[in-house]
Amino acid sequence: METKGKTRRYSIALTFISIFCVFILLTTALLNTYPTISSRDVVASTKQRALLNLVTTMSASLSALERLSPEGAEQVMELLDAGDYQRVVVTDASGLVLYDTGGGALGEACDVAESAQALSGDAVFRCHYDGSEFLSRAAAPVLSYGEVIGAVCVLDADTGQAELIRTIQTRLRNISILMGAATLLVVALFTGGLTRRTRDLVKAMKVVREGDYSCRVPVRGGDEVAELTEAFNDMTGRLGNTEELRRRFVSDASHELRTPLASIRLLSDSVVQSGNMDAQTMREFVTDIGMEAERLQRMTEKLMRLTRMDSGVPVEHAPVNLKKLVGRVAHLLEPLAQTKNVKIYTELEEGVYVLAAADDLFQIVFNLAENAVKYNCFGGNVFLRLFSDGVRAVLTVEDTGIGIPDEDVPHIFSRFYRVDKARSREAGGSGLGLSIVHDAVKANGGTIAVERRDTVGTRFLVYFPLLPEEEREEGAT
Ligand code: ADP
Repeated sequence: METKGKTRRYSIALTFISIFCVFILLTTALLNTYPTISSRDVVASTKQRALLNLVTTMSASLSALERLSPEGAEQVMELLDAGDYQRVVVTDASGLVLYDTGGGALGEACDVAESAQALSGDAVFRCHYDGSEFLSRAAAPVLSYGEVIGAVCVLDADTGQAELIRTIQTRLRNISILMGAATLLVVALFTGGLTRRTRDLVKAMKVVREGDYSCRVPVRGGDEVAELTEAFNDMTGRLGNTEELRRRFVSDASHELRTPLASIRLLSDSVVQSGNMDAQTMREFVTDIGMEAERLQRMTEKLMRLTRMDSGVPVEHAPVNLKKLVGRVAHLLEPLAQTKNVKIYTELEEGVYVLAAADDLFQIVFNLAENAVKYNCFGGNVFLRLFSDGVRAVLTVEDTGIGIPDEDVPHIFSRFYRVDKARSREAGGSGLGLSIVHDAVKANGGTIAVERRDTVGTRFLVYFPLLPEEEREEGAT
């Protein structure tokens, strides 16, 4: 199945791993350069201090000579252990070599640039690290009575410090490679787990989209993805229930509609097929067809009402005078009650107002009262009572009829549920009346309860929040 809308172009795991790779590379680069540069600088400045001190001491010792000569220079340098250094050069004021431990020819021009620079009067230091050794050079002028009479220059090659820096560098590199690999592994494992769980969710969503509401995703961990999985499972469960209810509703509705339709078909076939039917029988048949048609009409009206309530279209609520409404219902049901010799008694308190949809309230009272008459015994009684308990409007509908068996009570508000199918059908029932009552009570902020009467019959109790006096309107419905 093709995925609609945007297709996935990159994965969270890849993005995470790429970001971490860049981060690790940067950290590694920083770890491998910064400490090396710092140690190099520290070594260089230590060398600078030591070598400058040395050339200054040498220069001072040379200054003490009466005349700067090769012999004099050699004597002084031997005293100062010049042989311990890589190379020591002493030149005269014109830059000609007087002494050189590096084997330079005496009387020749010195090849060390720093020596020539020192002849201009300032001490010079230079250090270079080539990866395997520190090469440092320091030169200082030799002064006599304020005049430059020569220069002394020391060249030093240090492999010991360079080796130390190289060891630090190697260790840092190994540590960063190890840390980088460990971090990458952890990130890969973590993001792998995360994407696996989201992939499972997406897979399950596709299954649900195809109509399989039994699909559930195992909840792993306690993080946001686990929360999302729980919400998905819950939502799928609810969708499944709704779908199941819808399927049952459609199948029950078609079953219920088929019965009167079949009767109509049978009756009309009988009329058509019997050529010499007398007028009286014909009238009975047509009356029966009319009654079945009326049943169909009542049922479709109830179905439409239920569908409208299911759709959740908001209904306008207005103040309703319950006394007026219940009185009207009692009056309307009088003819039906008379056919069964049932007496309707009303006990209605004045000034009980609620904020609700008047049509819904009418349907609630009518259905309950009609049932109280329908399922009553011949010569029975119906009591409609209305009062307020201070915060609620309380309506009770009682009858002295056949009652509802305890095991059926939990189901009576379900659609198409009938305790006694034959009796209900005979009474023109569809099994929808009480589910309409239940939904309408809920939609108008009320509650409903049902109980067995002490003696015989049933009592329905409906509660609605009472409308405060200042919000009532004169002439409310
Ligand atoms: P119906 O259209 O069949 O009356 P309802 O939803 O109004 O459907 O009622 C559901 C079932 O509950 C009825 O079929 C009936 O068996 C039972 N019932 C409802 N009200 C009463 C009552 N007052 N006394 C006894 N049984 C009742």
